[in-house]
Amino acid sequence: MNGRPLPWSGISIALIACAFLAFFGVDLVAVLAILLVWVGSLWLVGAEPPPTSDTSNNGSLTRDSMRDLFEHSETPVIITERDRVVIANHAARALLGAHIIGQDVRMALRQPEAVRLIERGSDGTAIVRNLARRHDIWRVNRKTMNDGLAVIEFVSKTAEADISRAHTDFVANASHELRTPLASIIGYVETLQEDVEHLQPAVAERFLGTIHRESKRLQDLVSDLMSLSRIEAEKHDLPEARIELAGLVERAARDGAGSERADRLEFTSEGSFWVRGDEQQLEQLVRNLVDNALKYGDADKPVSVAVEQRSENRVRIVVTDRGDGIPAEHVPHLTRRFYRTDPGRSRASGGTGLGLAIVKHIVERHRGRLDIESTPGEGTRVTVSLPLESEQQVD
Ligand code: ATP
Ligand code: MG
Repeated sequence: MNGRPLPWSGISIALIACAFLAFFGVDLVAVLAILLVWVGSLWLVGAEPPPTSDTSNNGSLTRDSMRDLFEHSETPVIITERDRVVIANHAARALLGAHIIGQDVRMALRQPEAVRLIERGSDGTAIVRNLARRHDIWRVNRKTMNDGLAVIEFVSKTAEADISRAHTDFVANASHELRTPLASIIGYVETLQEDVEHLQPAVAERFLGTIHRESKRLQDLVSDLMSLSRIEAEKHDLPEARIELAGLVERAARDGAGSERADRLEFTSEGSFWVRGDEQQLEQLVRNLVDNALKYGDADKPVSVAVEQRSENRVRIVVTDRGDGIPAEHVPHLTRRFYRTDPGRSRASGGTGLGLAIVKHIVERHRGRLDIESTPGEGTRVTVSLPLESEQQVD
């Protein structure tokens, strides 16, 4: 009987029904036979365990199916029984190590916020830092079940926190970049207003020159910020226009150099190369690279700009300058917004520190590659490789 209670209500109904039958003259043997079959069937149905409700006999099967259920989830999940880890899925083992199975979950997690969540013993959530690596952030959810079991799930918040930190840094840097020229403009305008009668014309002229330069810087900054946000907004749309690259690069390089620096440019091309691209963005990319090469390379040395076939299906633009170069520790960071190796020099030349960040985003939108190689004391070579038209269409 497996300790199940007898179906007394059913038996009572059977007894009453049979008493009625006997009372109304049905043969006693027949009544007893009916009672026997009725009660017997009630007993059999009562003794048959319902297929899903008894977990005590097949607990191991249930645990196996729980293990299978969670195993391939990309979210790390562990199941504990009286705070001991009994199941850890693939993602949880990758995060915390396979050795946690069988361990006390507080030992497995260690972090104080997580331990507090476990010790509370109820359902809840905690934000846990440095769980497996430095600077990682996880939201840990604990849900209790019957029989001392609990499910603990780990949701990574690291990428979200990184994006939010990058956003905050960007706003702080942009505000700083905007504030500096604004403060200078306001200062000079106030001086001019206060002393306009006593100032010598030459001094006033100098102040106006500074105001003009700083206003221009603000304008460049705002226009670069707008470019950057426009390129970022379009980054998933593959540009569609069919463009001949060599002609575009030559035109944009001359444009970037301006008439006073054009004589330092050396342009070469191996022929015509067609790519799918955004004309304005590719021109901006070339202008930014050529401007850097002319600005940071030696003033009396040439800058070479070459368009050449890199492989069967790629073309590259190579901009090379001869000059001080860039110390190796700076190279990985050059495409970060507002990153400068020498802020004073960059600002003095009117730089916003956004040129290479814009280049990087344009390259990404065109499914290209950007490489910066520099040898201190010799110079810098920036290479942008792009898929040739037919190749890009296959992509
Ligand atoms: P902007 O491009 O707005 O004028 P910028 O030139 O300072 O400003 P980026 O083009 O992003 O900004 O370049 C970032 C930094 O990288 C520069 O400040 C400079 O320190 C360094 N850099 C870039 N290109 C070169 C180069 N060819 N040689 C040496 N240093 C370079
Ligand atoms: Mg630049």
